[in-house]
Amino acid sequence: MMSGDCALCVLDAAEALWANDQCFVISADVTGVGTICRVIWRAHIREMSDLDAAARGAFMDIVWGVEAVLRTLTRPAKMNVASLGNQVPHLHWHVIPRYRDDAYFPETIWAPAHRDALTRPLQDTVLRAALEAGLGNQAKSPSIMA
Ligand SMILES: [Zn+2]
Repeated sequence: MMSGDCALCVLDAAEALWANDQCFVISADVTGVGTICRVIWRAHIREMSDLDAAARGAFMDIVWGVEAVLRTLTRPAKMNVASLGNQVPHLHWHVIPRYRDDAYFPETIWAPAHRDALTRPLQDTVLRAALEAGLGNQAKSPSIMA
């Protein structure tokens, strides 16, 4: 897949909940679960092993930071962190708070639903503030604003 056809390459990091020079964070509401985050590498890179060790480490620090933020906000039964990319082969991590009564528990959120369940949405303003507090406000660095 060329980057011009990529659903993640066309996203505008300036509209993300949080961003730094290398990656950015967006959220999505999954029906029957709640708000999840995706941490997306800016460059169209296919596999984690295509990044050098420093870049991988920096990327994963953000993933674990997002995990901690969501964990604090949602008090889940379990956090799920997943990198698949079969449909969109552009590096991104899903960070997913899970609840014992969510639609899919204990399977992944991509499994067939087990039950009807409430969706637990987070407000963007709440999530944005928590990400800024948890990760720092790197989004205002000059290279992002340019
Ligand atoms: Zn891409």
